Amino acid sequence: MIIESTAYPIEIDFPDILPYKVGNTGVDWITTFDSGTAGPHVMISALVHGNEPCGAVALDWLFKQEVRPVRGKLSFAFMNVAAYNAFDRNDPTASRYLDQDFNRVWQSASLDGPEVTRELERAREVRPVIESVDYLLDLHSMQHKNPPLMLAGDQEKGRALAKQVADPEWIICDSGHAEGKRLRDYDGFSEPSSPKAALLLEAGQHWEAAAGPRAIAASIRFLRATECVPADFGEAFLEEQQPLVPQKTIEIVAPVTVQSENFRFNEDYRGMEVIAKQGTVLAMDGDTPVVTPHDNCVLIMPSRRLQVGKTAVRLGKLLD
Ligand SMILES: [Zn+2]
Repeated sequence: MIIESTAYPIEIDFPDILPYKVGNTGVDWITTFDSGTAGPHVMISALVHGNEPCGAVALDWLFKQEVRPVRGKLSFAFMNVAAYNAFDRNDPTASRYLDQDFNRVWQSASLDGPEVTRELERAREVRPVIESVDYLLDLHSMQHKNPPLMLAGDQEKGRALAKQVADPEWIICDSGHAEGKRLRDYDGFSEPSSPKAALLLEAGQHWEAAAGPRAIAASIRFLRATECVPADFGEAFLEEQQPLVPQKTIEIVAPVTVQSENFRFNEDYRGMEVIAKQGTVLAMDGDTPVVTPHDNCVLIMPSRRLQVGKTAVRLGKLLD
């Protein structure tokens, strides 16, 4: 069965971010606040994907709170603003990116290579700021209406930071995509020897109303966990949100990368399905069956962009 493109309503308001264009870093759309005292450089980033407005909602809220770091530095960054500005309500998935996925270019071969795309140019522009960041929270959303996920990478330090943030319920430990590295995996963020760490929040479906408040709540908790703000920062906002629940951790065993022009899921998977039996056929990739590698296999973010070389779905194992 071929996955039909599902129309989700656009419930979320796209904030006007123009006031944040000229920051103070010399790089448009990035603003850094310096406490003047020693401490880590903490960043929250939004709009790595242009059609995921929840991150812009969260940064707009944080700017309006006039939050300032009590130690170290705090940066707010809007990444692919050109794609955000290209958003079209009649074709809302088209503006994920303009030329290529901004969240697959974070390796030297791309950043230092000869290729020129609008996303690579922007990545090269923000790269020096990114390289000075110690703790990153990158705000995203998903194609399907799934519970929010925190993607913590494949290092223990990412998982530990996700547990300190304590929100949302689901922590996903993964090493990303065969197609290219994500911002959250760049450089020190995924090196075991570096103290740097990064998290990627998937706050829900791209345009669901709940994604904005979830991104704000996770941002508040991230800023508290990194001790960038006073321990009671954002308390009034959090009191209005869902209470925290015990977290569950899923380790990604294998990303399924599309190999043929004819990849078809056997069911209309939406994500977070738990498949009880090892060896269950999930999809056909040409003539090759894609099967569950173990019992109680969790399907993470099945994609509707079933193109050769792209991730079709990621398979996970429940750890705790
Ligand atoms: Zn995204």
